Amino acid sequence: MDEISEFSKDLRNKISDIAYIGNLEVLRRQRSADGTEKFLFGLEDKQTIESVLIPEKDRLTLCISSQVGCAMGCRFCRTGKKGLVRDLRAWEIVDQVLSVNRLYSPKKVTNIVLMGMGEPLANFDEVVESLKRIVSYTGISKRKITLSTAGLVPKITALAGKAPDINLAISLNATTDEVRDRLMPVNRKYPIQALIKACRNFPLKSHRAITFEYVLIAGMNDSPEDARRLVRLLKGIRCKVNLIPLNPHEGSDLQRPSVAGVLAFQKILTDHDVTAFIRESKGQDILAACGQLRGSYSEKASSDMPERSI
Ligand code: SAH
Ligand code: SF4
Repeated sequence: MDEISEFSKDLRNKISDIAYIGNLEVLRRQRSADGTEKFLFGLEDKQTIESVLIPEKDRLTLCISSQVGCAMGCRFCRTGKKGLVRDLRAWEIVDQVLSVNRLYSPKKVTNIVLMGMGEPLANFDEVVESLKRIVSYTGISKRKITLSTAGLVPKITALAGKAPDINLAISLNATTDEVRDRLMPVNRKYPIQALIKACRNFPLKSHRAITFEYVLIAGMNDSPEDARRLVRLLKGIRCKVNLIPLNPHEGSDLQRPSVAGVLAFQKILTDHDVTAFIRESKGQDILAACGQLRGSYSEKASSDMPERSI
C-alpha cells in the first residue's frame, strides 16, 4: 500500500487499516514426517524468510519470523550465522499468518509464536504494530501469542506498555554470566541479573506466566549446579521452564546432552516446584526445528521427503 504514491499518505493509511494486499510468495513447502510444515516465503526484494506450522490435536501453531537473519550471534543458533540482513515490515510479519490461513482454509492458525528467524525486540516498532494487526485481523487471542526474546532488557520493559498483552518467553540458556556471555553475546550488554529484574518487574496478567527457554548443551549449561542456580534465579517469578535439548547443526562443536541428563536436570527443577517441560523440537528432518531456520532457498534439507512446490 505504501508504494501507491498516487494516494495521499493519509488515504494510504486509512486504506491499509481496512484493506490488505498479500505480497508474500510461497516459494517452497516442506512437510516433516511428524506433520510439521515449513514454508519458505519470498519477499518483494527477493529476500526469503521461513515460517513453521506445527499441527497438534486441537491447535495449529505458527512460528513466525521477525527479521531476515539475526544480529545477535548466539553460538548455538543457525539463524544468526549469517548476521542480520534486514528487519521485516509489520505487514510482512502479519502476512505470514494470513498466507498460511489462506493455504489451510477452512482451518485457521490458532496460536502464534515469534520464535522463527530474528530477534523480535530488535525490530520493536514493526513487531508491536504487527501484533496489533494480527489480533485485529485474525481474531487470534492475545493469550495465544508468545514473543520470545534473547533478552533486550529495555525493550522488555517497553513492551508491556506498547504491545497488546501477549505472552513473554525469555531465552535464558545459562545460569552464570560467564557461560551466557560465551553462548549469547547480548549478555555482555544485558547480564542475567538485569534480565531477571526486568522479568520480575514485567506486569503479568493474572493466570499468565513467563516462559524461560533453556537450550540444554552437554557440558556447558546442563550440570546439577546449573539446575539449582536456575531454581534460585527464578524464585518468586510466576514462570515455567521449557528445556530444549540442543538441535546440533553442521559446523558447530556443541552437543546435546543424553536423555538421562535432560531428565535429571528436569527433576531438580520440578523437585523445587519449578514447572519444567522438555520440548523436543518438531520438524528436525526438514530443518524446521528451533535454531535451524535460515531462510535460504538453496539450502538442502536433510530429509528424503520430496519438496512440494506450489
Ligand atoms: N530470537 C528469539 C526468538 C527466535 S529463537 C530468541 O532467541 O528468543 C527461538 C528459540 O530457539 C530460542 O529460545 C533459542 O534459544 C532456541 N534455539 C536456537 N538455536 C537452537 C538450537 N540449535 N537448538 C535448540 N534450540 C535453539
Ligand atoms: Fe537470534 Fe534468537 Fe538465534 Fe539468538 S537464538 S541468534 S537471538 S534467532
